[in-house]
Amino acid sequence: MAEHFDAIVIGTGQAGPALAVRLAQAGRRTAILERKRIGGTCVNVGCIPTKTLIASARAAHVARRGADYGVLFDGPVRVDMARVKARKDEIVRQSNQGVTRWLRSTPNVTLIEGHGRFAAPHTIDVNGKLLEAPEIFINTGGRASVPAMPGLDQVEVLTSSGMMDVDFLPQHLVIIGGSYIGLEFAQMYRRFGSAVTVVEMGPRLIGREDDETSAAVQAILEAEGIVFRLDARCLSVGRHDGGIAVHVSCEQGPRVIVGTHLLLAVGRVPNSDDLGLDRAGIATDARGFIAVDDTLRTSVPGVWALGDVNGRGAFTHTSYNDFEIVAANLLDGDPRRISDRIPVYALFVDPPLARIGMTEREVRSTGRPALAGKMMMTRVGRARERGETQGFMQVFVDRETGKILGATLLGIEADEAIHSLLDVMSIGAPYTAIARTVHIHPTVSEWIPTLLQSLMPLA
Ligand SMILES: Cc1cc2nc3c(=O)[nH]c(=O)nc-3n(C[C@H](O)[C@H](O)[C@H](O)COP(=O)(O)OP(=O)(O)OC[C@H]3O[C@@H](n4cnc5c(N)ncnc54)[C@H](O)[C@@H]3O)c2cc1C
Repeated sequence: MAEHFDAIVIGTGQAGPALAVRLAQAGRRTAILERKRIGGTCVNVGCIPTKTLIASARAAHVARRGADYGVLFDGPVRVDMARVKARKDEIVRQSNQGVTRWLRSTPNVTLIEGHGRFAAPHTIDVNGKLLEAPEIFINTGGRASVPAMPGLDQVEVLTSSGMMDVDFLPQHLVIIGGSYIGLEFAQMYRRFGSAVTVVEMGPRLIGREDDETSAAVQAILEAEGIVFRLDARCLSVGRHDGGIAVHVSCEQGPRVIVGTHLLLAVGRVPNSDDLGLDRAGIATDARGFIAVDDTLRTSVPGVWALGDVNGRGAFTHTSYNDFEIVAANLLDGDPRRISDRIPVYALFVDPPLARIGMTEREVRSTGRPALAGKMMMTRVGRARERGETQGFMQVFVDRETGKILGATLLGIEADEAIHSLLDVMSIGAPYTAIARTVHIHPTVSEWIPTLLQSLMPLA
């Protein structure tokens, strides 16, 4: 006999817990399942720990640059990796316990630890026990992809999750993958004191971005001593006296990078393969993402998929927004949609890269007349005062409607400053709505109106 609930949430990622609590508050008896660590990727092995480690790495970086600001230390800056990890673990522990307490203390919510699998469209098998509910919500997230690569079984490979257990300084960290996750680890470990080489198969880093953005990020990281091997073909790995050898060329004669540790950061795959989706008849796309419509409904009535597992976003904010959309439609009669969402994300290297809407390449591909404005961070007082003038701010506007199409901000405070542009986009107002706004001096944001006053036709 299956135990009956009104709703079952599979996974405690960034959508599941908030949704379980909303459903329970609306009177639905709700079960939420977690097979590993409560709070999911972001809390335990993603955003929170990486940004905590990045804060330690930045502290080391600023300390090394102390003399630039007239602040002198007697000896070299030393990084105690055990303490760095302990600090990270403590911050993760607080978040993990916060979510756990929240779920355990909410009336009508039952937290069950175990791996959930569909036994039928509305029946879940967890720990050999059957649960059934008319409404099922999948929030199972994703995991690091470990593709087939010659020699990978011969060496110890770290993924972004494995990096969370590192409490020592790798002498030479080789990172395969020059995209968002790989680059955050690259700068972090370089600042901790490791030699770092990034191997990227494409011709440039963060291939989704414009060429000049990739080049600017590469230059910033190279200035800190990170070595890049782009266009790396025929990758294979193997053991070496010095640790791990990464072969990066198809040409005759091995071209080898020897490092002590290897991090594989080549993308993520959805946790959909061990969910028994076939027994429920839930459709996926060719890459295993659960197919959903604009309101997160799967191909099976009464089953929704939220977060990274649906392939419609790959961020904590998109997963949380999925929760809001489902809750709005189901509980509030408010017809919110995924397609209302403006693409927004950041790469948390230092200085950060923040992006909204279209890149220049995407704007050009639409063929519509556009205006563009660009300003180097060397003009920005806040950046000069802080001695951190790398990067630029760039915005694209539709020439006919005056609406902002996209923006790329690379520079200090970019991850905060971009929100004033995002908010104007979100309310559907033309750029002129803030072109004359007076912002606080001296901030990065104060230059956004000036940037918008300097628009020129995109040639
Ligand atoms: C290193 C790293 C850094 C990141 N940094 C950022 C960042 O700075 N900003 C940002 O917005 N995003 C970042 N992300 C992405 C972010 O972590 C995810 O987009 C976010 O966690 C949303 O995930 P989710 O809600 O889909 O599920 P997840 O957070 O992945 O959680 C899914 C949960 O479901 C559980 N689960 C899976 N299958 C089952 C099952 N069958 N039964 C029971 N439980 C199951 C899993 O154990 C997991 O706990 C980062 C990711 C990584 C890896």
